[in-house]
Amino acid sequence: MNLLGLHHITAIASDPRQNLDFYTRVLGLRFVKKSVNQDDPGTYHLYYGDYAGSPGTVLTFFPWMGLKRGRPGHGQAYATAFSVPAGALSYWQERLNKLAVSTAPVESRFGDQVLTVFDPDGLRLELIATAEADQRPPAPSKDVPAAHAIRGFHSSTLALTEGGPTAAVLTETMGYRELARTATRTRFTVATGGPGTYIDLLVDPALPRGLNGAGTIHHIAFRTPDDANHMLAHQEVAQHGLQVSPIIDRAYFKSIYYREPGGVLFEIATDQPGFAIDEPVETLGARLGLPPRLEPFRTEIEAALPKLDVSTNS
Ligand code: ZN
Repeated sequence: MNLLGLHHITAIASDPRQNLDFYTRVLGLRFVKKSVNQDDPGTYHLYYGDYAGSPGTVLTFFPWMGLKRGRPGHGQAYATAFSVPAGALSYWQERLNKLAVSTAPVESRFGDQVLTVFDPDGLRLELIATAEADQRPPAPSKDVPAAHAIRGFHSSTLALTEGGPTAAVLTETMGYRELARTATRTRFTVATGGPGTYIDLLVDPALPRGLNGAGTIHHIAFRTPDDANHMLAHQEVAQHGLQVSPIIDRAYFKSIYYREPGGVLFEIATDQPGFAIDEPVETLGARLGLPPRLEPFRTEIEAALPKLDVSTNS
């Protein structure tokens, strides 16, 4: 199948206001879509990314006010890594310290420096300062200078009790290839490679079993260019014996979902049509985006949702 790398990653949060503030002001991402959870329209679905919300840059959240924290561990996408320019980590360490954001000491991984950062719900994020070329434009921000800004995803790390069955799905069904390995971590890439394409499988017996809740990843989505490739991907996933959902129209992209053998929920999403179908790219995030079936209830839905201050959005 024709996959191009990561499309978006969706996580679970508690307070939507705290979430918006952290991802826009602290990390400098752009708020690219304010929508609702299509299965629970009383709660938001919030999207952060680069200026246009390009595939490969978008981290999204289902925030449920008051939700208890989960536990990151086996059977989950354990860490979400963003690409930042080489040399940017000292800037980020200083910034995050000043803002009292929890971080872990910088470590080295496959030759790059990695700063682990925890969001207000304890979600494990990584800023990877990579010497690899990353031509993607920085997310525009009033708070983070372009020279240090996030370029998009670098990788997703899946925590697993055994790597083999997941590796087989990646390489035999999804077109990924192994790139590098250490005792506990194996890196896979697809298409042209580079930041935004990497999936790392982490097999670390010291980790607990993951439990869903605030601060954990719900699913990770892979990119395919268009509807024709998406239909083909749907057939191929089914042919390889995985239980796959029907094709679902998410308005901004089409989606299919399946659970890989290690327990992580995978999605394949189309690059088209993108986030500018219901509001101009200049004002992304300003208007509540609703699927057509919920549009008749806009007034009631908006009244029930907590108000968000988007003044920090660029
Ligand atoms: Zn998704």
